[in-house]
Amino acid sequence: MYNILSEKPEEFINHEEILDTLAFAEKNKHNLEMINKIIEKAKLRKGLTHREALILLDCDIEEKNQEIYALAEQIKKDFYGNRIVMFAPLYLSNYCVNGCTYCPYHMKNKHIARKKLTQEEIRKEVIALQDMGHKRLALETGEDPVNSPIEYVLESIKTIYSIKHKNGAIRRVNVNIAATTVENYRKLKEAGIGTYILFQETYHKESYLQLHPTGPKHDYDYHTTAMDRAMQGGIDDVGIGVLFGLDKYRYELAGLLMHAEHLEAVFGVGPHTISVPRLRHADDIDADSFDNGIDDDTFAKIVACIRIAVPYTGMIISTRESQVCRERVLHLGVSQISGGSKTSVGGYAEPEPEDNKSEQFDVSDTRTLDEVVKWLMDLGYIPSFCTACYREGRTGDRFMSLCKSGQIQNCCQPNALMTLKEYLMDYASEATKKIGEYVIQEEINQIPNEKVRQIVIENLKAIEQENRRDFRF
Ligand code: SF4
Ligand code: SF4
Repeated sequence: MYNILSEKPEEFINHEEILDTLAFAEKNKHNLEMINKIIEKAKLRKGLTHREALILLDCDIEEKNQEIYALAEQIKKDFYGNRIVMFAPLYLSNYCVNGCTYCPYHMKNKHIARKKLTQEEIRKEVIALQDMGHKRLALETGEDPVNSPIEYVLESIKTIYSIKHKNGAIRRVNVNIAATTVENYRKLKEAGIGTYILFQETYHKESYLQLHPTGPKHDYDYHTTAMDRAMQGGIDDVGIGVLFGLDKYRYELAGLLMHAEHLEAVFGVGPHTISVPRLRHADDIDADSFDNGIDDDTFAKIVACIRIAVPYTGMIISTRESQVCRERVLHLGVSQISGGSKTSVGGYAEPEPEDNKSEQFDVSDTRTLDEVVKWLMDLGYIPSFCTACYREGRTGDRFMSLCKSGQIQNCCQPNALMTLKEYLMDYASEATKKIGEYVIQEEINQIPNEKVRQIVIENLKAIEQENRRDFRF
């Protein structure tokens, strides 16, 4: 029985409710009156239910689809302006005791190089990331209680925050580690993490059990309730996602939105971010052997529907996607992207030797961070290195209420300009610097509040002339 407030995963991600939803959406995909009503509701920018979002996903009336895309674009502009927040993944270890059939880190893969960074190696990686200009990291590790216990992760976070190389600093460490206990989530919170990220991979329980045949991750219920425990442990910014390609995308989108609805209903705060990775080729993984891959059109529709259904939730797209694909979906709702990423354990400080590779998947967008930053500005976006919110205590429901009311924009816009200025001063190539200075000058005039604008102008001057850093609203 579907129960959004339940603690049991089979009740809040209820299989029958998903099947009913999919049947209902299929039946109503040409129902013009209903589609119009949903679009009108979406225009209020308060989100949609999973059922409503699925009807829009299935809708195949061309004219209505154009409206859906236009609305997603408008909502993106209203909530996120033209800013795109930058981040990079940092893989700490690829030892893993699980048997996930789509990931080359699965335990049985004997030919991939296994690595675990020492604190000294982490230091080198972080300096290399700082020297690129990154301020925000997503930590990744395989699940292995012996090689990467929680103490190792906590020590690594401490190391990362402690490194200040030249003008560099990692100001926000998001963490993507396996489902764990409330106690461990509390420790992560105390270590000052930003978002706790964990992908569900698939919400389809039967597929989940087959795709995760061995290891602790096989426990669907424990995995699916991880965010509930994270919230109980005091982490109020959580990031969810599915790996599109594992099961049917309609099922996954319904599950994803039901998960968001559950967190909001129980804890009063929905997910901070939603990631939309698609399955990629990797060491011993052939993405083509999974039959649920989705094409770029469907992918764009999914992004648009998520944007409309949960306007206040950030959306992340990684370098798994090509430049072309990223360009296509950025304006439909994506608010965060990675740049210059390595998906290997180590590799930022020194490239991995050909015969000792540890990558989790093939990166599709292989450009440098500087190239990505320039490209974004060429497209009319402001790359932002902002990490202000959690450092100012704006997390969880406090963040969400500012976000839902649109007030957060008063912080995001100036912070984007000031952090971009830091990037231009410290790391940018000449070409990037040139366009960046132009963008900043143009955008200053868009700051509506006169007092804020004056402060930003002063701070930009201090960044350039006094070598000062880390201004934020
Ligand atoms: S997806 Fe995660 S848990 Fe599964 S094998 Fe890869 S690293 Fe391990
Ligand atoms: S002000 Fe907050 S919401 Fe806005 S970009 Fe910075 S960290 Fe993100």
